[in-house]
Amino acid sequence: MNNDIAKVLYTDEQIQKRIGELADQLSEEYKDKNPLILCVLTGGVLFTVDLIKKMDIMAQMDFIDVSTYFGGTETTGELKLIHDMTADVKGRNVLITEDIVDSGRTLQYMIDLLKSRGAKSVKTVSMLNKPEGREFDVNVEYYGFLVPNEFLVGYGLDYKGYYRNLPYVGVLKPSVYSEK
Ligand code: 5GP
Ligand code: MG
Repeated sequence: MNNDIAKVLYTDEQIQKRIGELADQLSEEYKDKNPLILCVLTGGVLFTVDLIKKMDIMAQMDFIDVSTYFGGTETTGELKLIHDMTADVKGRNVLITEDIVDSGRTLQYMIDLLKSRGAKSVKTVSMLNKPEGREFDVNVEYYGFLVPNEFLVGYGLDYKGYYRNLPYVGVLKPSVYSEK
C-alpha cells in the first residue's frame, strides 16, 4: 500500500500535533455548549475519533453520510443522503467534522439541512481544506491544513475505497489510476 504513494504531505505526527491544537480551541469554544459532533462518513471517521479523544468537554457524537464521489477521482456533481443522523438537532450546537472540504457542495448541503431542522448553531472543523476547489460559498471555521488542488489519500481519504487506513496524507502515484 505504501508503495503506491508518490509523496507524503502530512505525517501521522504532524496530523496528531495539529489535532491537539484544534481540540484545545474547540474545547474552549464549546465548553458550556454541549455540542453534537456530527461526523461525515466515511472519510471523517479517523479525524473525528482522534479529535474527540483530545476534547476534554461534554459532547455527543452522531454520523451522517452524504456522498458526491463514487469511488473515482472526479466528483459527479450529484449528491445523495446515504445515511441520516439519529439525533434531533433542534436547538443544538452542531459541529460538523469532515475529512476535507473541496468544492464545498457537501458542506453546503449539510449546513442547509441542519439549519432547516432548527440547529442553534452550525460550525465546521475539517482536517483538510482545499480552497482552490471551492464552488460553494461555505465557511470552514476550523481546519487542520490547507492543501493544494491534488487528489489526496490517507487518514480517511480513499481511492476506490482503499488507502483510508494510511496514518498519513499523501498523493497517489499516477500509475495507480491507470492500472486499476
Ligand atoms: P466537496 O463536496 O467539498 O466537493 O467534497 C467533499 C468530499 O469529497 C470529501 O468529504 C471527500 O470525501 C471527497 N474529496 C474531496 N477531495 C478529495 C481528495 O483529494 N481525495 C479524496 N480521496 N477525496 C476527496
Ligand atoms: Mg467526505
